[in-house]
Amino acid sequence: MARSFFADGASPSVHALPGLVLVAGSAVGVSTAPAYVWARQPAAGRRVALVSGGGAGHEPMHAGFVGVGGLDAAVPGEVFTSPHNRQVHAASARVAKPGGIVHVVKNYTGDRINFAIAAERLRAEGHRVAEVLVDDDLGSEGQDVGRRGTGATVVVEKILGAAADTGADLDDLVDLGRRVAARSRTLAVAHGAQTSPETGEPAFEVAAGSVEYGVGIHGETAAATIDRDDLGTLVARMVGDLLAALPDAPEGYLLLVNGLGGTGNLELAHVATEAARVLDEAGRRVRSAVTGTVVSALDMRGFSITLTAVEEDWLPHWFAPHDTVALPTPRPVDDAPAAYADGDGDAREGAPEDREPSVWLAGLAATFDARRADLNALDQRAGDGDIGTNVVNGMQAALRRAPGPDADLAADLAAVAGAFLDDVGGSSGPLLGLVFAEVAGAAEGTADGDLPTALAAGLRAGQDAVSRVGGAVPGDRTLLDALAPAVAGDPPRPLDRDSVVAAIDGARATAGLVATRGRASYLGERALGAPDPGAVVVAIILAAIVGRGLGTPDAGVGDDLDDLVAGR
Ligand code: ADP
Ligand code: MG
Repeated sequence: MARSFFADGASPSVHALPGLVLVAGSAVGVSTAPAYVWARQPAAGRRVALVSGGGAGHEPMHAGFVGVGGLDAAVPGEVFTSPHNRQVHAASARVAKPGGIVHVVKNYTGDRINFAIAAERLRAEGHRVAEVLVDDDLGSEGQDVGRRGTGATVVVEKILGAAADTGADLDDLVDLGRRVAARSRTLAVAHGAQTSPETGEPAFEVAAGSVEYGVGIHGETAAATIDRDDLGTLVARMVGDLLAALPDAPEGYLLLVNGLGGTGNLELAHVATEAARVLDEAGRRVRSAVTGTVVSALDMRGFSITLTAVEEDWLPHWFAPHDTVALPTPRPVDDAPAAYADGDGDAREGAPEDREPSVWLAGLAATFDARRADLNALDQRAGDGDIGTNVVNGMQAALRRAPGPDADLAADLAAVAGAFLDDVGGSSGPLLGLVFAEVAGAAEGTADGDLPTALAAGLRAGQDAVSRVGGAVPGDRTLLDALAPAVAGDPPRPLDRDSVVAAIDGARATAGLVATRGRASYLGERALGAPDPGAVVVAIILAAIVGRGLGTPDAGVGDDLDDLVAGR
């Protein structure tokens, strides 16, 4: 079954076009036969029309760049197929201006031919027509047909759009466009191919652990397959290759980090951080940066980096207001870039006073290490698969705060409380932090003989705090379903091995509960059958606390915990 949502038998370009520009409202008109879109409210000062186009599959390029400060018309072909010259002709004729028409064309044979034929026809009808060719892709350097046109098309179109709005004439626009293209280079990488709309399968295979280096935007594999390095190393290589291919840029660079369709925004931002760092280390100045998916290759899992060796007088065009649906107006980067500056840091991070943990604290950390994968698996069934990781991170933070090898239970619990409250994400971390804080407080200064009573009271207070903050009560399928039975009674029974057994039984019973709180509630009955992971974590913690008093690490319920964690 095809893994795409294209309607069967539909022409993606024709059917997607109205949706693509829907958000432009009345600012952009749509023609479906032949397919093109055009700006209905172009800037008043424009004397020359800008028209671009190319195969579909690269959305939001080009239709997303139609409007004030952008294109006058955009012409999509079928997926990865040049538009027909009839489309280009019709779109150009519709938006033609007295000063002429500039075609912005990416360097592909089909595009060049169809735009050239359309230009011939338009000239025969009395229009002035000129072409700006974009050929920025370093991944295709050295081929007879020249470099492909990719990400820099956005840069060329943005700068030309703003210049056209100021009333620039055809010759000036063509000259400007060609200079911008000549001073722009792009490199793209991918670790996964796009889904073919025909077959619903990946268009090519990329072996695990490798990256296609210099990939195109039409599903072509790259000239080189390289080992997958960490992102910083990969970006450094890309930026290094780009800089080597560009002329000197005393005025700095425009940076475009572009997703190829299957790469998330968080990843793109990470790439941008690395690219800015590499450029800074190379003594190069970033004048402005744009990140986002602007030139895609369907859903290819990859990204491209475009650098433009900018000239000072292009910057006003680059920063000029841009009213199109797909490209926010670029902004200047400060002289002192903040993007990769150090944060305030965490005062505790790397604190010199790291002390040896107690045997108990180290043992609890080791227990969660060993159970991390199983806990994540439990959380995966009803949530997002991270509770084991969250708790392990919390215990690592607790070890960094360890009060010392001879710490008593209260001090160790206080360290865990602080760590969970401050350093652990998710729902369970801070909620467990509340419980730990109450138990630590109850244990502090308490004689050993009174600990069972004090601990039970502390856990009860913790239960109440969790209910107050999170709004859950026992029976909602949360960690409370292990905590509450362990401290049942009024006042609660002193904490002992039976309390742990009650917690385990309570946790096990959550397998039959439908969640009403937390992530599991989205799944309803689909989460049935496996115990709530937060409840399991509570049972493990209680076993450790009681075990410390008994002198047996897991209070003698290790096998029961094993079964519980394994969902048995
Ligand atoms: P997240 O759901 O944010 O990924 P975790 O995976 O760290 O958080 O923790 C999930 C656990 O948190 C659940 O198994 C449940 O026991 C507990 N939990 C979630 N919401 C609540 C709540 N409102 N009250 C008590 N416990 C809760
Ligand atoms: Mg989770």
